[in-house]
Amino acid sequence: MSRLVIVSNRVADPSAGPQSGGLAVAVGAALQDGNGLWFGWSGEIVENDATDRSGVNLERSGNVTVATVPLSKRDYENYYLGYANRVLWPVFHYRLDLAEFDNAALSGYKAVNQRFAKSIAALIDPDDVVWIHDYHLIPLAAELRKLGVDNRIGFFLHIPFPPPEMVSAVPEHDWLFDTLFAYDVVGFQTEQDAANFRRYAAETDDGAGPVTHPFRNSGRMTDIRSFPIGIDVDSFIEMAETTDATNRIARLVRGDVTNHVIGVERLDYSKGLPDRFRAFRRFLEMYPEERKKTVLMQIAPPTRGELAAYTEIRTELEQLSGSINGAFGDFDWTPVRYIHRSVPRETLAALFRGSKVGLVTPLRDGMNLVAKEYVAAQVPDDPGVLILSQFAGAAADLEEALIVNPYDADEVAQALSKAVTMDLGERRDRHQKLLTRVRKNDIVKWRTDFLNCLRGEAA
Ligand code: UDP
Repeated sequence: MSRLVIVSNRVADPSAGPQSGGLAVAVGAALQDGNGLWFGWSGEIVENDATDRSGVNLERSGNVTVATVPLSKRDYENYYLGYANRVLWPVFHYRLDLAEFDNAALSGYKAVNQRFAKSIAALIDPDDVVWIHDYHLIPLAAELRKLGVDNRIGFFLHIPFPPPEMVSAVPEHDWLFDTLFAYDVVGFQTEQDAANFRRYAAETDDGAGPVTHPFRNSGRMTDIRSFPIGIDVDSFIEMAETTDATNRIARLVRGDVTNHVIGVERLDYSKGLPDRFRAFRRFLEMYPEERKKTVLMQIAPPTRGELAAYTEIRTELEQLSGSINGAFGDFDWTPVRYIHRSVPRETLAALFRGSKVGLVTPLRDGMNLVAKEYVAAQVPDDPGVLILSQFAGAAADLEEALIVNPYDADEVAQALSKAVTMDLGERRDRHQKLLTRVRKNDIVKWRTDFLNCLRGEAA
């Protein structure tokens, strides 16, 4: 079998266990099996003129070669913070209002993709298959093609792809999305994302020809499909069942509280945390009989603190949790427990298992793995209830969750009431169906389907 080359913005240790989560778990096994190579940014930021001299750092981790390069301060500002996180992240999450278009950022994005392409071209063999991940690296295959790389190259977008009316507001979108046609396979999280891209492609195919769309007119057939990402179900269940987990769950029990509601996400505006807190306040207002029985534990680790939009949301959330606790709390009861720190996955597995409700209400999310992890962590005989935003990619599959509109505080409050009062029979029934779905679309299926498609084998 041909060697697998993974390229992503950041590289994790591919031999790390399930505790680390993320892409390392998702692609680790495929890399280990095939003596693979993983290329990406080391996380190091060096002086502006040092990237030319620094070259590629090569290390072995089990069967995998890990190839990393640093970014300069300028690259970090323009490519990473500027274009990836101030332009593509907000636009792809339907937040044009937060996008900050800037020529220096776009130039930096192009320059880093060109530099990555040069380094990768020198490392790959003719029959390697190359799998590129996420919005930081959209034009990478186009740059590799320009250098004569003719290997099979696939791309997977981990975040949503919005409707064409929105993406066509991005300056130079013609250039950017034409580069997707340099791939053999372009994968999206959901059928809706794939459909949005197909519609964008159809609506911008105005016969502009090879000058505007060189890759679309190159004769390459690009397979555009959805591959919903999943989790490593059994290892998550194992983490939820350890003695440590059981001890942690026991420590959750306090006072009269029987309704533990858990929310876990990076503190990002796409996750709808202020809306969630407002919905929780509505729940306390609408259902006073549930007050002292219910606690919302919100874990929201910091992320991208350098960007203004993230500092604002942090302040808003602190104010909201403070005002809810001030208005409703009592000497023996604090309604919102807000934790602004990262929590290890084993601890999360226990918290999910010990919580009667998993509250997952992003305003927009590519997939949302927390929703799947919450389902996996439940005790099948006495499971909790998942409340899930209709705007998470996971909602396309997880039909037996209580699906809500996260912008509608009353609707989320009603779902919370339904969840905490749901009878055991209905909880078991919903959970059993959800777990079957989470198992069916697990991480192995995602990886295998994508790689089969990329290698030109039947899915
Ligand atoms: N996570 C974690 N510790 C935290 C918060 C989150 O390990 O404090 C993990 C969580 O278990 C999940 C991942 O980070 O596996 C988040 O993935 P998701 O798709 O839900 O959201 P993303 O952060 O990728 O937008």
